[in-house]
Amino acid sequence: MLEIKNLDLKYGRIQVIWDLTMSIYNNEAVGIFGPNGAGKTTLISSIVGLIKPEKGELIFKGNSLSGFKTHEIIRKGISLVPQERELFPFMTVEENLKLGAAYVPNARNRISENLDFVFEIFPILKERIHQLAGTMSGGQQRMLAIGRALMANPKLLILDEPSLGLQPSLVIELFQKLVEIKKSGVSIMLAEQNVKQGLKVIDRGYVLENGKIVMEDVGKNLANSPHIQKSYLGV
Ligand code: ATP
Repeated sequence: MLEIKNLDLKYGRIQVIWDLTMSIYNNEAVGIFGPNGAGKTTLISSIVGLIKPEKGELIFKGNSLSGFKTHEIIRKGISLVPQERELFPFMTVEENLKLGAAYVPNARNRISENLDFVFEIFPILKERIHQLAGTMSGGQQRMLAIGRALMANPKLLILDEPSLGLQPSLVIELFQKLVEIKKSGVSIMLAEQNVKQGLKVIDRGYVLENGKIVMEDVGKNLANSPHIQKSYLGV
């Protein structure tokens, strides 16, 4: 589904991502694990066209993403849940969700089906459909941000640290929802510092440190690796 080949990313003269190669297959949940500042957000920004690669290729469903603008990339089927929730706090849950479909012609024709799908995964959003987004709890707002990204009908859903600022029980609940989303046929790229919970939902993961991939493996092997246990799981 997504292939990244030999990617270099820079801010001005400062290189942040070095020769990064990775892939995400159909119906797969892939983790990008790494500490603060490793380059996860920068990598994601390049996939959705916010940063132009210095070198390398981004290929989605067999076609290069090079030269496409963010809204065009979203139309192709990649949807991002950014680290900042970027909801519209003075708009209702329903209005926020509908905005998720606004720029994607395919999704505009399927608003009611997609709303049903989002409500099936997050029933709380249906209960709160007329509530202003800004008055909901942090966990509910995170669910709304994911729901809004799903309204664009993605084939690949990218989440940038969805666990940030949430209490542990909510993280577990939220990550379970990602499993449901994957089962519906959406591939997932999960950038996380919360490796412990992240490992429970991904099929395969990459470890990104100082802008370089230092490990790649299936979840079970990552969980058993001495490096992961020592550096990320506090074992
Ligand atoms: P975090 O979880 O804190 O967002 P991250 O793994 O997502 O961490 P990035 O935000 O991608 O890491 O940052 C990678 C590196 O790039 C860091 O050293 C950061 O200081 C630097 N960086 C990020 N944004 C910019 C920018 N706009 N200009 C210059 N340097 C930047």
